[in-house]
Amino acid sequence: MSSSTEIEIERFMSGLVKRNPHEPEFHQAVAEVVDSVMPYVLEHDEYRQARILERMTEPDRVVIFRVSWEDDQHNVRVNRAWRVQFNNSIGPYKGGMRFHPSVSLSVLKFLGFEQTFKNSLTGLPMGGGKGGANFNPKGKSDSEVMRFCHSLMIELHRHIGEDTDVPAGDIGVGAREISYMFGQYKRMSNRFAGILTGKGLSFGGSLIRTEATGYGCVYFMSHMLEARGRGLEGMSCAVSGSGNVAIYTIEKLLELGAKVLTVSDSGGFIHVPAGFDEEKLAWLKDLKEIRRGRIQELAEHFDGVEFHADSRPWGVKVDLAFPCATQNELDDKDAATLAANGTIAVGEGANMPCTPDAIEHFHATDLLFSPGKASNAGGVAVSGLEQSQNALRISWSREEVDSRLQGVMKDIHTRCAEYGSSSDGKPINYVRGANIAGFVKVADAMLAYGIV
Ligand code: NAP
Repeated sequence: MSSSTEIEIERFMSGLVKRNPHEPEFHQAVAEVVDSVMPYVLEHDEYRQARILERMTEPDRVVIFRVSWEDDQHNVRVNRAWRVQFNNSIGPYKGGMRFHPSVSLSVLKFLGFEQTFKNSLTGLPMGGGKGGANFNPKGKSDSEVMRFCHSLMIELHRHIGEDTDVPAGDIGVGAREISYMFGQYKRMSNRFAGILTGKGLSFGGSLIRTEATGYGCVYFMSHMLEARGRGLEGMSCAVSGSGNVAIYTIEKLLELGAKVLTVSDSGGFIHVPAGFDEEKLAWLKDLKEIRRGRIQELAEHFDGVEFHADSRPWGVKVDLAFPCATQNELDDKDAATLAANGTIAVGEGANMPCTPDAIEHFHATDLLFSPGKASNAGGVAVSGLEQSQNALRISWSREEVDSRLQGVMKDIHTRCAEYGSSSDGKPINYVRGANIAGFVKVADAMLAYGIV
């Protein structure tokens, strides 16, 4: 990179940090994009003149509101919730809601910004948004979660709509929470409309939506390997997390003949040296989706399974790594360990799970690396398909949705390759490819609208 480009990046980032103090996750997400996109912007003066990057890093609007609710002991509880409507240049805002005590404006701005690029990459007409609350569903009864979700929707309903903003799930927001929120919206508005995705199958949900992010992540990995003349069959894999994304990443890996050695949660990780099988996966699903238990219980239940408290799985020798839990869960030390252990590729299932230093390490060691905005886009893609089915009032079969998902992941790979390939024999740079491909579509729409 030339020194004048580096100066431009520094100037841009110092302005952004000044305008958005105390938002480290947002700074990190923007820095990654600007690093790839700035050289492209400097070569295309129309984007620079129109200050597209400055406009794309400023959300269209942010709504912040109080959520009051009553717990089972009749104590009044108060949480804070947000909806960040980042960019609707190519379609209604679309992006999940996250319920976790670590949720902050910074985290939601990072996620909303990433979502804008991700949604653009899918090729579907969806803008970027994200929301959530600093509410911890862990340890709460179903009634408490219901009262919280109902209270949150009393405010959120003013800001969403099938042509305005269509939230979905994320960490801490699964089928149960989406159902409570949808029920409250329907009651308040007297409308049955596709204003949320991830709904139950009997009330407008799409087949494969639950599985889509994990399945899509594996489809994307398979394209990355194929581009280097390899395949998934027989590959050993480390997966982190044990939520929605992790579980369906494991399911598809097993189906395609890979061997999964690890899963984790915030208490530590599980090592299964012989590899996961159908029985352990079914048990894990029941543990996490129904009983809402801790990963440690898997080691207590099955022989030959080790639990490592307060640790992450990146020290286990594997061919492929899939960080599927949360942001910044894989750092430069972990990246060095993976490279030293001969890992071939890392596919992000979570959003921004690898730190910037870790990504630098992957690129320096020619390890294949896909950023979440490309490899985890399958979830939002099927959400987009759920919206289409709702609008048409039809339901596509499992095979139809899966085949469309596979098509979207293949197209995302092609778009990344278009902007991320180089002629020096190095692997495709998926970070550069995803960022520029995602940028161009949104930026061109913004240019067309004039100064808005
Ligand atoms: P989830 O079902 O709530 O599962 C999250 C998993 O990550 C749980 O195993 C959780 O463990 C673990 N985790 C959360 N915070 C952690 C921390 N600080 N340290 C270690 N482990 C932690 O959420 P999800 O839907 O699978 O989402 C996972 C990631 O994928 C997030 O980055 C999300 O933004 C991204 N993503 C999700 C979708 C989707 O369709 N769901 C789509 C695209 C991207 P505990 O249970 O112990 O907290």
